[in-house]
Amino acid sequence: MAPISTPATLLKRARRVAVLTGAGISAESGIPTFRDALSGYWARFRAEDLATPEAFERDPELVWRWYRERRHRLRDAEPNPGHRALVTLSDKVPQLTLITQNVDGLHARAGSTGVVELHGNLTRVRCFDAGHLAPEFPDTEAVPRCARCGSLLRPDVVWFGELLPQAALHRALEAARRADVFLSVGTSNLVEPAASLRWIAAERGAAVLVINPTMDGQRRGPGVHHLAGPASRILPELLSEAWPTD
Ligand code: NAD
Repeated sequence: MAPISTPATLLKRARRVAVLTGAGISAESGIPTFRDALSGYWARFRAEDLATPEAFERDPELVWRWYRERRHRLRDAEPNPGHRALVTLSDKVPQLTLITQNVDGLHARAGSTGVVELHGNLTRVRCFDAGHLAPEFPDTEAVPRCARCGSLLRPDVVWFGELLPQAALHRALEAARRADVFLSVGTSNLVEPAASLRWIAAERGAAVLVINPTMDGQRRGPGVHHLAGPASRILPELLSEAWPTD
């Protein structure tokens, strides 16, 4: 009889691992998920009304203020054991591609390199008209302007209705197609095309490990293992089980 494959043994045997993270992995670093972020004054708005090019054109001051507040919160946040476990994992497996929907830059701050940022990064700004990247994020109340062309600066994130950075998407799709194990961490898997990555991997025979306190609203399927709990606990536990002598 073939031995039972546990998530830890699947991970230990894997040659190529793809990891997709979402807002949940940063929740324990004190960064609210999208909808949780809309508290207090912001409760009057919908995320979709603040994170679109149309919203910025309509009221750039309002959108700038929202992102400036989120960026201030980020300065006090630190990577947590979930982010750090993924750095360790990249040393354990022959090939790991870390894909994130997060814009908080915490994976890089934890020490991960080559992170595929599908939705941009909140710590960068570029201009609205021409996409010129600015060297730093101006911490001003008024919306700053591009030093090169004078157009308004906006956060370098992907808003609703915008295209994903094509090079990042290509790398993510390649990693999903080639993975033996696909880890989905802290994402509700509602936002496309990121949500499809795990099924692309599964169709090619990869085992899918979902790390999330809940599977609410998520499709299950053959080869999908749910590891229920917070990423900051489950990821280090999974690594200790796979490589117990380290
Ligand atoms: P989401 O808010 O839709 O879902 C978060 C998921 O994390 C949920 O399934 C929830 O059950 C799970 N979760 C909550 N706490 C967790 C924990 N401790 N450990 C593991 N899982 C936990 O987030 P999403 O799927 O990333 O999609 C939302 C969009 O919002 C993304 O496009 C992202 O760019 C953006 N966003 C990013 C950040 C960030 O950069 N930190 C924050 C908010 C929103």
